[in-house]
Amino acid sequence: MDPATEATLRQLRETDLLRAPCPGCGAQLVFQADTQQLGCTHCGATQALEFSQNRLKENELTGDIDQELDPSRYVEQQLFSCPSCGARTRVAADAPTLNCGFCGSRAINPEAQRTRLIEPAGVLPFRLSREAAVERFRRWIGTSWLAPNDLAKAANLDNLHGMYVPFWTFDAEAHSDWDGERGDYYYVTVSGTDGRGNRVTRQERRTNWTHHSGTHDDFYDDLLLPASRGLTRHHKNAEEVLDYDLQEVVDYDPRVLLGWEAEVYDLDLHAGRAQAHDIIRQRERDACSELLGGDTQRDLRVDTSLSYESFKHLLLPLWLCAYTYRGKLYHFLVNGQTGKVSGSRPLSFWKVLLLVLLGLLVAGAALYIWNDAHGHTTVRTHFNYRP
Ligand SMILES: [Zn+2]
Ligand SMILES: [Zn+2]
Repeated sequence: MDPATEATLRQLRETDLLRAPCPGCGAQLVFQADTQQLGCTHCGATQALEFSQNRLKENELTGDIDQELDPSRYVEQQLFSCPSCGARTRVAADAPTLNCGFCGSRAINPEAQRTRLIEPAGVLPFRLSREAAVERFRRWIGTSWLAPNDLAKAANLDNLHGMYVPFWTFDAEAHSDWDGERGDYYYVTVSGTDGRGNRVTRQERRTNWTHHSGTHDDFYDDLLLPASRGLTRHHKNAEEVLDYDLQEVVDYDPRVLLGWEAEVYDLDLHAGRAQAHDIIRQRERDACSELLGGDTQRDLRVDTSLSYESFKHLLLPLWLCAYTYRGKLYHFLVNGQTGKVSGSRPLSFWKVLLLVLLGLLVAGAALYIWNDAHGHTTVRTHFNYRP
């Protein structure tokens, strides 16, 4: 890396201004998803970016997080907290207005706060341009035949915005000791008498209980947790679009944030780690239950211990949009790397009505055929009994 670039990078980290002027004309440079380089919004000049993957080491976690973390991992940043939903976004000190990327509320002259934060170790640069994100959305809308026909055209996508969303990834080696009772069903023939004193036999289910124990070991690699409460609060099925290929994560470079929004974590490392522990313990329990087997189980005890814990703080790209259709609000997300889409979409009243009517028609026809068949039998019976 040349000294000039290094100076720009340092300045981008230390001042809060997510700004880099074009060397040619002084206008704002932005990171372009389709070309993976910086481009000038005014004169069209471009500047190549080289990414590295050298500093992406895992941070070890053994005990107390606060005492362990190297102070150089932290960075002070100017943050804006949304007054209505609490999401925290990085902001230029002189930004006159801010639209919250999550709830859409607007703040004039937002008050920024300097906050000490863990600096991201890596970032996945946006790959999907705005046009590509819109295209994915239209295709997704098109795959639902219950959606209104004019939806792709009528949905207002003005507030579609690309945002780097904060995540934690956790690694851990898990060892579980388990023991429990496994029940296997078998059937016996029981004989008795019915109400009128006749001998009858019937099958009765019994359970054979046996005690088992064992161990289970697994390595959890890059368990991905959103560090943004705004994301999980506003997008119920956010998980569906998080199919990131983390092999493409590069060393954190603030230049890829130029021209994009970047949210700052509000689920801190402690809370993230606790969530990761819960997920791992549940998966270990499921794995041990699988090992115990049987038709039913009781008293399964699983004792899981974790070692070689480490974490990374990453920024990953996501397109977010709240759109209105006939006065109602819907949300959708597009993965900024893979293009996967998830969200809510309106159903066409007429198409749903048609489907219901069709269902009634099928049920009616079935009933008619059934009636007809039975009616037929009755007629034949009549014939048989006639002389
Ligand atoms: Zn320029
Ligand atoms: Zn908000």
